[in-house]
Amino acid sequence: MTEFADRVERISISGIREVFEAAGEDAINLGLGQPDFPTPDHARTAAVDAVEAGKADGYTGNKGIQSLREAIAAKHERDNGLDIDPGDVVATAGGSEALHVALEAHVEPGDEVVIPDPGFVSYDALTKLAGGTPVPVPVRDDLTIDPAAVEEAITDDTAAFVVNSPGNPTGAVSSPADVREFARIADEHDVLCLSDEMYEHFVFEGEHRSPMEFAESDNVVVVNGCSKTYSMTGWRLGWVTASTRRIERMLRVHQYAQACAAAPSQYAGEAALTGPQDVVAEMRDTFERRRDLVLDGLTDMGLSVPTPNGAFYVMPEVPDGFVEGCLDAGVVVVPGDAFGDAGEGYARLSYANDEESLREALDVMRDVLASL
Ligand code: PLP
Repeated sequence: MTEFADRVERISISGIREVFEAAGEDAINLGLGQPDFPTPDHARTAAVDAVEAGKADGYTGNKGIQSLREAIAAKHERDNGLDIDPGDVVATAGGSEALHVALEAHVEPGDEVVIPDPGFVSYDALTKLAGGTPVPVPVRDDLTIDPAAVEEAITDDTAAFVVNSPGNPTGAVSSPADVREFARIADEHDVLCLSDEMYEHFVFEGEHRSPMEFAESDNVVVVNGCSKTYSMTGWRLGWVTASTRRIERMLRVHQYAQACAAAPSQYAGEAALTGPQDVVAEMRDTFERRRDLVLDGLTDMGLSVPTPNGAFYVMPEVPDGFVEGCLDAGVVVVPGDAFGDAGEGYARLSYANDEESLREALDVMRDVLASL
């Protein structure tokens, strides 16, 4: 008998954490993947009210409370033009658990999962935990996911391909034409398209579209959540939506791994989804101003930077020693290769930070570059 399972030995703690731990306490942290805004008051209040009324003490149904799932279905109608039955939604412990149940329910040992490179760290790790083999496909020069490259990577062993727009770490937004292609590939090759739409509301140019709008088969699973949209990373509330037969399989994993999403968070999420949405627009506008500030600053330094049209990340190409130089000078940035081999030579900067800190960080980067 072995002490530890092979599947857990095949993954390691994300490189992002290592960077944080290397940074001093006073560092300006451009490494964080979370909005720097408070959770909206009406969401906090809804959770407090539910707790005080004794409504959040027990387990909820495995899929989550009915009113939350109705709010999620209404959100998909409002934002995506999708007609989702609230029964086809499972509330999860963040987008992370949603990705986990989706891959666990669809990937067999030996299956391949095509993932964007660079891409969010969980795609690689969760594929391995499910016993599958990640097949990283480099993004285009403008950092968008290339449907032709994805299609070329599909083999008889492919169980799924993951798309993520707006993307982490790239900030890239897929065009509607590319999203249509993702849907066609899922239909024609009869493979699952796992669409991670966590950053849906932070789009500055272009528009967010979901492959679920275009697919003719039920081969699209959508992952979304409250973490980014409503600045609720600590509440751990996400969801997965798909056809009834897929939801039923994912529910089996969720039921045994999680039972249900935390009850107070479900009430908060429902209030966030059904309450005023101007908080989201304000965050989007703030992120756009900061994106412009950072993009101009990096371009002025002579760095080559694909324009990110969404999320709150920017990925410049950087010379050797840049990431370490920034860390030594008190600015945390994440090396691009923490997100896959194709990220080598890039750094990911999160501009979920106030403008003063961003300006200060840009000054430091200028000095670091000059010293290399
Ligand atoms: N998907 C992407 C692309 C992300 O960037 C993140 C978080 O950084 C997640 C999923 C996970 O979100 P959550 O914090 O809700 O688990």
